[in-house]
Amino acid sequence: MEPTQGDYDLSEVDGIDTLRQRMADAETVRDWSFILSDYISFGNNKISDNTGIFNMNSATDCPNADTENCQVPWSDCYAHKAENIYKKTLPYRRRQEYLWECLDAETFAKAILKIKERKRNAFDYIRFSEAGDFRHKGDIIKVDRIAEILSGEIEVYTYSASDYLDWSEAEHFKVMQSNERDNYGDNLFSAVPEKDDIPEGAAQCAYEASDGKVKCGDCTLCIDQRIDRDVYITLH
Ligand code: SF4
Repeated sequence: MEPTQGDYDLSEVDGIDTLRQRMADAETVRDWSFILSDYISFGNNKISDNTGIFNMNSATDCPNADTENCQVPWSDCYAHKAENIYKKTLPYRRRQEYLWECLDAETFAKAILKIKERKRNAFDYIRFSEAGDFRHKGDIIKVDRIAEILSGEIEVYTYSASDYLDWSEAEHFKVMQSNERDNYGDNLFSAVPEKDDIPEGAAQCAYEASDGKVKCGDCTLCIDQRIDRDVYITLH
């Protein structure tokens, strides 16, 4: 599927009517927490189970898809590949976007804290946008407010190629910038041809360096706001 940059027909998204009905019926933070828990995943082959993942939009609808901002060619975008391979992935991520649009930061954050209370395996981190990216300043302000409310309980982080946005209000979450077109993140996450090309003072991604034994969440180089270090993967 070609990138839409966010221009698609919401009424054609599978499951949107059911989600809308659930949202219309939600009265309490607890109700919202049950809805949100169906739209947050925990862990995958690269991310530890102590990390929740929420996408503000899909890769197909990513504002940076197939543009010069994104360092990954559109045909290599793994988040987009998943949306092509698995029939349910794109509609799921579009429903995440709808939920993101409709839910205010306070309710979102309080619902996350309720999920944490209920969950047998506690989690410590939330990663925004494994697929997709920040579209406008409103996304930054909302994530920042959520991170502020969660502060002390859950750390929030993201990677972004949206260098053209004003990131000055991203104070409570960590931003790993994924291009060098501007100085907009806390640190850089980028790729170099070989390990020897990693600049002095920067680190090789622990997941790569450990052959997948150390996952994000076990390693907090890109998560912990107190760590001031650029991170690189190698292209081999
Ligand atoms: S450096 Fe650590 S936190 Fe960053 S991507 Fe690699 S494993 Fe994840």
